[in-house]
Amino acid sequence: NEEKSLNFIEEIIEDDLRNGAHDGRVLTRFPPEPNGYLHIGHAKSICLNFGLGQKYNGKTNLRFDDTNPVTEDTEYVESIKHDIQWLGFSWAQELYTSDYFDTLYQYAVDLIKKDLAYVDDSTAEEIAAAKGTPTEPGVPTPNRSRSVEENLVLFQEMKDGKYQDGEKVLRAKIDLANPNMHLRDPLLYRIKHAHHHRTGNKWCIYPMYDFAHGQSDSIEKITHSICTLEFIPHRALYDWCIEKLEIYPSKQYEFARLNMTYTVMSKRKLLQLVNDKFVESWDDPRMPTISGLRRRGYTPASIRAFCDKIGVAKRENMIDVSLLEFCIREDLNKTAWRRMAVLDPIKLVITNLPTDHIEELHGENNPEVEGGEGSRMIPFSNELWIERDDFMEDAPKKFFRLGPGLSVRLKNAYIVTCHDFVKDANGQVTEVHCTYVPNSKSGEDTSGMKVKGTIHWVSVPHAKETEIRLYDRLFNDENPAASENFKESINPDSLKISKAYIEPDLLNAVPGKGYQFIRLGYFTLDTSSSPDHLVFNRTVGLKDSWAK
Ligand code: ATP
Ligand code: MG
Ligand code: MG
Repeated sequence: NEEKSLNFIEEIIEDDLRNGAHDGRVLTRFPPEPNGYLHIGHAKSICLNFGLGQKYNGKTNLRFDDTNPVTEDTEYVESIKHDIQWLGFSWAQELYTSDYFDTLYQYAVDLIKKDLAYVDDSTAEEIAAAKGTPTEPGVPTPNRSRSVEENLVLFQEMKDGKYQDGEKVLRAKIDLANPNMHLRDPLLYRIKHAHHHRTGNKWCIYPMYDFAHGQSDSIEKITHSICTLEFIPHRALYDWCIEKLEIYPSKQYEFARLNMTYTVMSKRKLLQLVNDKFVESWDDPRMPTISGLRRRGYTPASIRAFCDKIGVAKRENMIDVSLLEFCIREDLNKTAWRRMAVLDPIKLVITNLPTDHIEELHGENNPEVEGGEGSRMIPFSNELWIERDDFMEDAPKKFFRLGPGLSVRLKNAYIVTCHDFVKDANGQVTEVHCTYVPNSKSGEDTSGMKVKGTIHWVSVPHAKETEIRLYDRLFNDENPAASENFKESINPDSLKISKAYIEPDLLNAVPGKGYQFIRLGYFTLDTSSSPDHLVFNRTVGLKDSWAK
């Protein structure tokens, strides 16, 4: 284990611990909005927040940032909880911003009483127009000078449902000339007559992100509130609210979000892919969602390793998706059980075995660990499926597989030598005829023969048929989010479906357990698979096929 230097947030935390800030506590939070499924970018934030909690003997809350009733749903709440647990983390408390609505309302009243907030009847357009520009100060709207008493009455009436959506808003009274536009009397509350998935119809006013987030952090006594760089200009408002309300001083810190090549990473865009049927669902194995990656065969350990490798930076960057693929390949190489499957079959007939010959061979599950994690029985007979491209009629010199006169080892079995083949009317090879070498059995080979190549195979009478789903990148463009219409660069060939023959032990497969199909890649059983219709997903190939 190489010694890793501290990232900048760890440095801040260690400084705080040394200085006794926050009474020596570390309490972080992961604050998803339940308006979609989590993606790999969220995994970065989860690993960071929960990782810090673990590292510094602290805790991490899961807080659903549910202040926008229109787009949120309990389906998303459930999927988010499942994904975090699957990644291997557990939260100290499960909390909801909506549980703080009463407190937040009271905070708003406090600000009004301090003459630091006012009800504005202006329309959204009028407010925007009066805000000025970064180089020009804004101008007050007529309602800015309303009395505290009037504001208290109007805000109460907003809450009581006296007004329509958009008729009034509550704004902070800060500074209309501030160079930071976020401080030019930002909105704190808006009217929205909408059903909320938790509070039902109790509320028709909802706090804005900037009024809800920092105060929620403060209510929970969060010590380090970590968010992405876009929130840097919001920090002044975060601090202003806490200062003026004289509540617990949580602090906001910003890190660079994860951007990844050939991927879009916003829930809004991912939702469009689902709604427009470019993918089957949120957990389609081509999606960068945690649930999609899981269904594809990614392991929690591989995602955590990826998040660890990309680190925590203060500047935006773009991570190559092949790093994620590297991480799952590295993990599965160590953990996946080896099995045999044939994707593009032709028949190999062993002519010196009787037609009813059946033999039980064995192959270890995992050659990467001592003891191989046990072995499975592999049935062997005189008719086998092999890959079509493991045979060549006119094999060049360095072709160490099958062709007339060539010998090869059958994995976990015997050496065979080709002496003939059969073609159909179109000139396609349909059968390869071989003899096997009886004393060449793997592990007890006394034949003295040296063969360079080993190929995989499946016994014809024992083979099970399965559907195989081979995935490619969902986008052809390296940065699809940069183009005006990201859907234009969707790769039309991101999914190829084919058939394969697999060895019968794979009937024991379960979704999420990774298998290396020897020479073909890493696969896992799809969640849609059934005993009558098996489906395997290719998680990733054995090598990076995109590398030059
Ligand atoms: P999206 O734009 O995809 O909807 P979001 O930031 O609106 O993302 P939230 O549910 O609010 O989604 O995010 C929860 C947490 O995850 C936030 O703290 C956010 O900063 C973090 N997060 C979201 N996307 C990324 C990303 N790409 N990289 C790192 N952290 C992210
Ligand atoms: Mg958000
Ligand atoms: Mg969002």
